[in-house]
Amino acid sequence: MNYPIYLIAASLIVTLLTACGSTKDKDTPPATPKVEIKEKTPKALEPEAKIEAKGVHPYDSDWGYEKENGPNIWAQLSDNYKICESGELQSPINLKWSQPQVNTRKIEFDYKDAPLQISDNGHSIVVQFPPGSNGYFGGKQFELVNLHFHTSSEHTLSGNQLPMEAHLVHKNELGQISIIGIFLIEGRSNPFIEKIWNHIPAKKYQDRLIPNLLVNAKDLIPNRMTYYFYVGSLTTPPCTEGVRWHVLNTPVEVSRDQIIAFRKVYSNNSRPVQPLKSRNVINY
Ligand SMILES: [Zn+2]
Repeated sequence: MNYPIYLIAASLIVTLLTACGSTKDKDTPPATPKVEIKEKTPKALEPEAKIEAKGVHPYDSDWGYEKENGPNIWAQLSDNYKICESGELQSPINLKWSQPQVNTRKIEFDYKDAPLQISDNGHSIVVQFPPGSNGYFGGKQFELVNLHFHTSSEHTLSGNQLPMEAHLVHKNELGQISIIGIFLIEGRSNPFIEKIWNHIPAKKYQDRLIPNLLVNAKDLIPNRMTYYFYVGSLTTPPCTEGVRWHVLNTPVEVSRDQIIAFRKVYSNNSRPVQPLKSRNVINY
């Protein structure tokens, strides 16, 4: 049976109007189609985002620091983590004290103020930096990506573990990684650390963006810039090798309360030292 097209159209309009009328109050404005808004990742957070933006991340959670998922068995947890055990350039390592050489390989900073973006990624507290902050290692430009923390320290100094270690992770266009390691020791309260600790997310796998709180990673860096240089790896799975490590000689003071505050969130997130094998460590 064929109806003229205008009759079908008219009956459709009547049906739609009736449906709207029966489900909505008279005062309700016409419904607009709902657009699904995806959870934003830290990189996608815009400065105009809410003061407290929360998101859930595809963070890897198959490894950790407990007996059942800790550093001794990382290589067994995934085929992607094999190098954690079989690698020749693994980090951290023990750093034997040596007299710094005349510093011919200076690190220079061009770090910018940025709104605090802070995450608990399930393994550490991480401050993310937007593009624009750069470190220059022997003149080569690497962009600052994040700052995160370990307790106790991962590198050891002449066999001694220190209370905490901060890592400033940089990448260049080729995907190469340069990390600055800074020992944190007990002393005076550190205002930069205080700024960050005040905004640690309440739960794991959460992010926060504080648009009106500017941070500059330069505020964590000590004046004296001699450092141990060696080629190592990420200290967390997948333990990727080829990372250029710069572990500063000069530690930075944080208060006992600041150490305790971090340990309430992460009581232990440090990988034990790895064999040096045939590597050289130079104290620049
Ligand atoms: Zn680290």
